[in-house]
Amino acid sequence: MLAKEGSSHGCGSWIPHASGTSSAREMLEVRPGLYLGGAAAVAEPDHLKEAGISAVLTVDSEPGFKEGAGFEGLRSLFVPALDKPETDLLSHLDRCVAFISQARSEGRAVLVHCHAGISRSVAIVTAFLMKTDRLTFEKAYENLQTIKPEAKMNEGFEYQLKLYQAMGYEVDTSSAIYKQYRLQKVTEKYPLQNLPQELFAVDPTTISQGLKDEVLYKCRKCRRSLFRSSSILDHNEGSRPIAFAHKRMTPSFMLATGNQAQCTSYFIEPVQWMESTLLGVMDGQLLCPKCSAKLGSFNWYGEQCSCGRWITPAFQIHKNRVDEMKMLPVLGSQTRKL
Ligand SMILES: [Zn+2]
Ligand SMILES: [Zn+2]
Repeated sequence: MLAKEGSSHGCGSWIPHASGTSSAREMLEVRPGLYLGGAAAVAEPDHLKEAGISAVLTVDSEPGFKEGAGFEGLRSLFVPALDKPETDLLSHLDRCVAFISQARSEGRAVLVHCHAGISRSVAIVTAFLMKTDRLTFEKAYENLQTIKPEAKMNEGFEYQLKLYQAMGYEVDTSSAIYKQYRLQKVTEKYPLQNLPQELFAVDPTTISQGLKDEVLYKCRKCRRSLFRSSSILDHNEGSRPIAFAHKRMTPSFMLATGNQAQCTSYFIEPVQWMESTLLGVMDGQLLCPKCSAKLGSFNWYGEQCSCGRWITPAFQIHKNRVDEMKMLPVLGSQTRKL
């Protein structure tokens, strides 16, 4: 479906070599019909038209085109983003990749640009190559740097693209990987005056219907429902001495499947009943909202699991303070002790 693009906008090699227009000097064709560039590439919309580009993805602090600029038939997408490691590109990747794919499938040539054409646009195009060519982050980035040696995304974007790979080239907002990433983003804004509501898992006492195969965790002392198995953020077991040296989480840690026999705590996402406890303080105890039994602790800067792994931020519940109850899907909220 991409086969016919080449003929619609001329031979791919003339763009990087031409020197007649500013846009030509600022654009590089990295795949047939896929261009990478900086702000100068969109300075003269007519030049885009001449180059056969009819779709533009701007990932910059400002839109690529002023109000009313551009030209008839031009399709554009603007993703506001600063070139900083803490900028969240991950949440926009699906939208960006879909925009590029859609445009190309219609035979449009696409320009992805940021300000300098070095970091933000490179990250987006790398994600696109990863997904369409099923490449690892390293391979896709290397491939792009071969074509554009000065391409250099910041380390925050590198990290996010590794998470993108770990999620299978699609941002799964219900995955432990994404939840942990989102929690880290919130932590960067510490001190926290308020927390976005979507950060919290719904209190299991407010939902009557259980999902199939879900396990419910209840306070051992008073039986209050505390969290569901879908809130557990799994991690690979650390080995104590090494784990001490690596406080920062790596994506491999997040691809957790290993047995966690050594772990004496569950690390979970925040649940609604924790909200008032978590605000305005860096760390503290987590108490049962009904009987005030001590369940565990939290720390926005992270805590170490008994297996040695650091988890940031950390909301941990000691396994011996809760009981696992299997949800019975037919009977809704009824549970059976495991
Ligand atoms: Zn552990
Ligand atoms: Zn309790």
